Amino acid sequence: MQEIRSFVDGQYLEPASWEDNFDPTTGRVSARYGIASVDDVDQAVTAARRALDDEWGRMSIDCRVELLYAVADGINARFDEFLLAECLDTGKPYSLAEKIDIPRGAANFKVFADTIKSAADEAFHMATPDGTGAINYTIRKPKGVIAVVGPWNLPLLLMTWKVGPALACGNTVVVKPSEETPRTTSLLGEVMNAAGIPAGVFNVVLGQGNSVGAALVTHPGVDAITFTGSTATGQKISEAASHGVRDASLELGGKNPGIVFADCDMDKAIEGTMRSVFANCGQVCLGTERLYVQREIFDEFIARLKAGAENLVMGKPDDPATTLGPLISAVHRDKVLSYYKQAIELGATLITGGSVPDLDAELSGGYWVEPTIWTGLDEGSPIVKEEIFGPCCHITPFDTEEEVIRLANDTDYGLASAIWTENVSRAHRVAAKMDTGICWVNSWFLRDLRTPFGGMKQSGTGREGGHYSLEFYYELKNVCLKL
Ligand code: NAD
Repeated sequence: MQEIRSFVDGQYLEPASWEDNFDPTTGRVSARYGIASVDDVDQAVTAARRALDDEWGRMSIDCRVELLYAVADGINARFDEFLLAECLDTGKPYSLAEKIDIPRGAANFKVFADTIKSAADEAFHMATPDGTGAINYTIRKPKGVIAVVGPWNLPLLLMTWKVGPALACGNTVVVKPSEETPRTTSLLGEVMNAAGIPAGVFNVVLGQGNSVGAALVTHPGVDAITFTGSTATGQKISEAASHGVRDASLELGGKNPGIVFADCDMDKAIEGTMRSVFANCGQVCLGTERLYVQREIFDEFIARLKAGAENLVMGKPDDPATTLGPLISAVHRDKVLSYYKQAIELGATLITGGSVPDLDAELSGGYWVEPTIWTGLDEGSPIVKEEIFGPCCHITPFDTEEEVIRLANDTDYGLASAIWTENVSRAHRVAAKMDTGICWVNSWFLRDLRTPFGGMKQSGTGREGGHYSLEFYYELKNVCLKL
């Protein structure tokens, strides 16, 4: 059986205990991973601290950039291994991971290597009463040892989105991937060694959040925490960070609205909404779970989305015909199914789906649920208010622009929104009024990586992406020199 290990100070650890890892497509054990002890976490933080003071801390930006390029090349050179590892952990189709997860995992190192090379410092010449003046200039300093805690939905992509800029800025990291998806983060240790990243710069500790994760984020040797995951865990991370007044970057949950105006291009709106609701089996923080469709096109839109949902093909990740994978775990499937049940109890009209699909014997033990669409619930219903994180959405009709802006913003979350309209003025007007960190117009999941990314309200704090990431991963110091 495959064994997945923590990676500390350039070496894979022999764990004291193991936990099973499950294949979400079959529900069978596919590997085991070693649980990091509190001592292993301490060793990882100590190694990261030492590496900061050693070679890594003294390295020029040019050398760091070259090494980060080598890491990206190393992922690409082992593309098929990363693809297999990610799909074994998540059950997602190869067709998705080979286009999104693995290429972006590699690109995150190149993008931030480029960002760091072009980062400009500020200088201000100021007047002084004696007339000689003074120069103020900015110096950047790595923040130190960064704890990186990630979720299971896009494991490699979201972890490297943080590790890439953290290392580019000269920090060292200790990463705690989700217990559901340890494979690609652990495999990255081999790539780091092969690329010549010094031991101790990149460390991985595996295990559950409330034990290993908590040990990491409360460790006094950690200087800052960067987290992607649920809002509930984000609140705990925020509390942990407050001890020692440490910085925390929090990318959290969402309950994202999609707004479809009658003046949309219906083909584009259906294609984009299909992806935003069902991609990655609905397990995307930016996915649409609340749809508002203008009354004139409500019936047509629902009929076409229903047909699209019913055409999705569930199957093995390596089957090119597969367009929908399973959920990540039995626990998550039970949570999603509890919402499916609750929707009916609350009086929803079920348009399609609503239960567990009938699949062949090999897949019947996997964590599959049907793609599901409802209408007819109140805006206050838990189905419309809470993040479900499954392949499902609720659709509400609306009449006016003002009404739909109010409905879309009536949520505790503020991560993403999507608007479908061919009216340019309306597009700008409504986008400006969305209380979300990103607003897509006639698209979804499209984004230049140099732009700010993050959530409003309970969807998070801070922005990452391009030079916005540098603001988190660097300390800025002003030097004021009297002339
Ligand atoms: P989660 O919060 O359950 O877990 C995330 C990580 O935190 C895991 O590694 C987990 O082990 C760890 N963890 C849990 N408790 C901890 C603790 N007390 N201390 C330290 N670490 C702890 O989230 P999940 O279920 O893995 O991911 C799904 C959630 O992530 C959804 O809410 C989704 O919206 C969100 N998400 C947000 C973004 C974004 O960019 N905003 C991206 C992807 C996912």
